[in-house]
This record gives sequence, C-alpha cells and structure tokens, in this order.
Amino acid sequence: MEHVDTLVIGAGAAGLFCAGSIIQAAGKGQEQRVLVLDHARAAGEKIRISGGGRCNFTNLAANRERFLSQNPRFCASALSGFSPQDFVEMVNRAGIAWHEKTLGQLFCDDSARQIIDMLLHRMRGAELWLETAVQSVEASDSGYLVRTSRGVVSARNLVVAAGGRSIPKMGATGLGYELAEQFGLRIIEPRAGLVPLTFATQDLDLCRPLAGVAVDAVVSHGQGRSATRFRDGLLFTHRGLSGPAILQISSFWKPGDEITVDLAPDQDIAAAMRDMRGQNGRQAVSTALARYLPSRLADAITEELGFSGARLADQANPKLDRIAERVNRWRLRPVGSEGWRTAEVTLGGVDTRDLDARTMQARNQAGLYFIGEVVDVTGWLGGYNFQWAWASAHAAAKSIAAA
Ligand code: FAD
Repeated sequence: MEHVDTLVIGAGAAGLFCAGSIIQAAGKGQEQRVLVLDHARAAGEKIRISGGGRCNFTNLAANRERFLSQNPRFCASALSGFSPQDFVEMVNRAGIAWHEKTLGQLFCDDSARQIIDMLLHRMRGAELWLETAVQSVEASDSGYLVRTSRGVVSARNLVVAAGGRSIPKMGATGLGYELAEQFGLRIIEPRAGLVPLTFATQDLDLCRPLAGVAVDAVVSHGQGRSATRFRDGLLFTHRGLSGPAILQISSFWKPGDEITVDLAPDQDIAAAMRDMRGQNGRQAVSTALARYLPSRLADAITEELGFSGARLADQANPKLDRIAERVNRWRLRPVGSEGWRTAEVTLGGVDTRDLDARTMQARNQAGLYFIGEVVDVTGWLGGYNFQWAWASAHAAAKSIAAA
C-alpha cells in the first residue's frame, strides 16, 4: 500500500495546479507527499486543446459576476485569494510569451503546451500516475483509502479535481459527482454550458443553408433589466447557431426559453431601409439589406419573408418593419444544445452549500476537497474557467499545506 499526505484525483488544470501549490508550500518547510492520478494517457488534455491550442489561461476581469452558481457569492473568497495577476506573474517567471486578445482575455503567443509544462515543472516532487483507474474510495481512520488499478493508496487528504461531464472523449466522467454523493454532499444537476444551440423546423431551414456564415451579433436571454446580453461573433451551423455570443448565452438558456438575436447591432434597420427607399427605391430589398449583413444572410432572410426579387419602392413601412424586426430582434426558441460532446464546460456540480468557500473542503468530511469544474461554479467564456481552476486549487492547497 502507498501512503501519501495528499491524493489528487484528476490531472487537469485544477489538479495539477493544486499539487504544484502544495509542493511549493512544502518547499518552504513542510514535507508533503503528493500523488496525482488520472485515467487519461496524458495530463492537462483540456489545457492542450483550449483557446484554439493557445490556452486562454485567465481573464483580467475575473470577479464573481463573471461566474454562474446557485450561490453567486461562493467563488469570491477563492478568486480574491489568487488573482489573474498572480497567475500572470507565474507565466512571466516561466518565460511564456502572451498577449491580450480582447476584453482581458490572455492567451499564450505560442502554445497551450507551455502552460502544461509550467504546471508539471511546478509540481516536481509530486508523483503523477497516468492511465490509472479509481476503483473505490472509502474513509479510514487516517483519512481515505483509494483502490486503484495500480494498487491501494492511503491518503490523509483527498482532493477531487475530476472535472465535469463535458467532452467524454477527453476523459470526462461523473466520478467527482459520485464521490460527492458517496460522502453526503448535494449535487446541483449538471448541464452542458458554453455549447452550440440547436433548432428545429423553420429556424433550422434558415440556419442550415447558411452554415459557415459569421456575423457580429448581440444575443440576449430574458426580459428587461434582468436580461443577459452578449455582443460577439455568431456562426450559423448545420444544426443551429454557434460562435462566442451563442456559447455565452447557452449557459443562461434552459429548455423552453427563447433567445433574441440582433444580427446588425449598430443599425436601426427599419430607419435605414426607409432612407434607402427614399434615395433609390428601385434597388432590391436583398441588395439593400446586404449593406448591413453578409449577402448570403440578406438573401436568405428576404427569401424566407417572401421578398425575393422585390423592390424597396414597393414596400410600405409595415413590410420594412417586418424585415427590420427579423434582423434586429430575431426571436428563436432553441430545441436543445449540442450537449456534452462539444460543451466547453459543465454547469452545476457539487453544491457550494456543502463546501467551505475559503478552503474548498467538504463541511461534513475533514480532509475531503473539491476543486475546479466539478464544483457548482462556472465561468463565462474567456479564460474565467481556468482562473476558477487556479483559484479554487490554490485555496485548497493553502488549507492542506497549513494543516
Ligand atoms: P479537467 O481539466 O476536465 O480535468 C479533470 C481531469 O480528471 C481530467 O484529466 C480527466 O481525465 C480526469 N478524470 C475524470 N474522470 C476520472 C476518473 N474516473 N478517473 C481518473 N481521472 C478522471 N477555459 C478557459 O478558461 N479558457 C479556455 O481557453 C478554455 N478553452 C476550452 C476549450 C475546450 C475545447 C474545452 C472543452 C474547455 C475549455 N475551457 C477553457 C474550459 C476548461 O478547460 C475547464 O474549465 C478546465 O479544464 C477545468 O479544469 P478541471 O481541472 O476542473 O477539469
């Protein structure tokens, strides 16, 4: 049997960072034996593919308002204990070149692989068992006994960093939730987030032929003051809509809800069409619309609304308003999402009521910690999810190193 101080299940962003943080603290005086295990062949697989291979490793605007959770205050303590600047300092010390793409999103100049290498370097001294399955976990007098495909491990602390359910092909399982339930923690029903939305019938008839067309759009969910809005790219797909604006809104959308899309955010299309009718009424409706939209999209909308070949001069105001409504306030009811296969994150997870916000330790179970995506804290698109992985891992590591 192996004896370790801390066993971390999951060699993803949160698990690797937590192990490294414990080792770094140990370097300052306390001896700690740390083992990280994962059933995957390689560590940090999601980091490797993140940000289009360049890893959007943090967001300078990370604060609790950029996260979804049943308890929106829960993440504040961990986020303030380890800030985006703290991570940037580490990246700088490792000599990794980076750039700010937009809206505080920081990416590696070269490769996400550099972040994985930095995390592995930082945890030198810890052991890493890959291709190792967890068979069972039980509490023992000295902590936890974990049966694995490599033998039994006894650990004083158990850190569950097994991630969510998104992208099973990359190693996601429900292990984190099963362990939480086994030890009496509650679970907020996991659901796919940051995921393309799918449509049925009429809406799909419009989307499908436009697959590949991209526009800058404002996508909103909800009404009035409580509405959530994102302005970013929108992409038509064979099954519906994708692109950053749709991924963002997907985390707020629930089955049955409607979303509203403004396909020309800076334009009052009704006013613009009236002006154009006054100036050159002979031009086709689709030509006029193509000033503000990609021509394939302008053609598809005019065809769908029955204005193919029609001239502006022949359209009374209510007809122009109908077209404008379709462009500036397109209301859609998605039938679903692309699901776990492509979701970038999992919403829901371990109920934060059962965790200590300063340490990520289970309230009812000493030495048991949950960090990263397995917890019911989910960031917007744009580097927030990694920042949560680093910050929650840091909070747990600090508590473990201090014990
Ligand atoms: P994970 O990184 O998912 O790690 C969990 C680990 O646990 C995995 O290695 C898995 O193999 C292991 N595991 C699971 N089950 C078991 C088991 N039964 N036994 C043993 N091991 C197990 N976020 C950003 O902030 N910026 C980005 O640029 C970004 N891009 C993304 C791109 C894609 C395509 C995807 C899918 C996600 C992206 N994310 C991004 C989200 C981000 O990757 C996750 O939020 C983050 O990886 C969560 O870290 P984690 O350590 O909690 O979980």
